[in-house]
Amino acid sequence: MKRTAISLFIAAVLCAATAFAQPKICIDAGHGGSDPGAVGNGLRESDINLDIALKLRSLLNADSNDSSGGGSWRVIMVRTGDTTVSLSSRTAYANSNGANRFISIHANAFSNTSANGTETFRYTNGSSNSRSMQLAIHDELVDATGLRDRGAKTANFYVLRYTSMPAMLSEQGFVSNRTDAAVLASASRRLDMAKAHMFGLQRHYGLAAYDPTQNVERGTVSLDMAEFSLNPVRLRARTTGDVARVVYLADDQWNLGESDNKAGKYEVRRRFYTVGARKITAVGYSASGRELARASRTVTVQNRDMVFTTASTTSNPVALFAQGGDQVAKVRYYANDTYLLGTSTNRGADFPVDYQFNFTGLRSLSAIAYDQNDNEIDRHDRDIRINP
Ligand SMILES: [Zn+2]
Repeated sequence: MKRTAISLFIAAVLCAATAFAQPKICIDAGHGGSDPGAVGNGLRESDINLDIALKLRSLLNADSNDSSGGGSWRVIMVRTGDTTVSLSSRTAYANSNGANRFISIHANAFSNTSANGTETFRYTNGSSNSRSMQLAIHDELVDATGLRDRGAKTANFYVLRYTSMPAMLSEQGFVSNRTDAAVLASASRRLDMAKAHMFGLQRHYGLAAYDPTQNVERGTVSLDMAEFSLNPVRLRARTTGDVARVVYLADDQWNLGESDNKAGKYEVRRRFYTVGARKITAVGYSASGRELARASRTVTVQNRDMVFTTASTTSNPVALFAQGGDQVAKVRYYANDTYLLGTSTNRGADFPVDYQFNFTGLRSLSAIAYDQNDNEIDRHDRDIRINP
């Protein structure tokens, strides 16, 4: 290993170790002891809350701000067993121990068993930090439970009102609803809920979501390509999360090229030797080389000078769109061969025009491509159904 690489590595580790202060997180498992909380479908809320709280403690303790990511936390627990704790003792515990954040974990119940879903609360007059924490955890938690999103709400609950630090309360789901109860009864789903609280805390503190128990990085990939593409094809994907590189495959096996992130875009141009329908797959990798996500779609590759790609059924105003080869300098769009709808000069290979039609239903459209000298070099007609 080169000397510069070693010192850079040491500098990075020192930075990581010192940059992130250890927030003190107070975890409050709701109810307990003589107060089981909500009861239904064979479940006691106090048990569910405690299990998620203990799992969250383990996760936060495992998160050590190592070079792979994550943060580092001090965790204090309102209760670690099936014990009775008053509301005032809960807030006094958090306040007197100087907690930086307070997270109260609950499950819901309602007399109407059709009530269902996940919701979170912050104090009505809470700080912007309580809102930021709530929203980050809310998003993760709704993902984790997969239940109905009842919203990120405000309330005057005692534990939110009398805690002196940013605080929130999460309601994972309804023990009184059969679908929700099945999720709450699953230990692996409760682990997902605990992780959601950790991921949300990490994001709230400006870190990428990171699972220290599995080294899991996360991200999504979506292909951003028209159904018809002109040869050479411009392969385009968008990503979220930790995706740092996208590799494109044809028919799941032929490597078409790869791109690092260039301002949120992952573009590769590639000439196909076989035209027609091809399955394109974009595979997203993290900086450490782990595959995080992939997306596929079938694209019809064409060799003509211009491809008229406006969808055959579309809504008003119509986004007229064609892609042209190197010779194409502009594209004009016509209705019924007579009415000029607009002209687009070259923006890369894309020729977009938006047009508001006065009539809906079937219209006969043409896209005509012209070269630099205004010679018509390609033309495509198609019937388009415009929805009201
Ligand atoms: Zn409760």
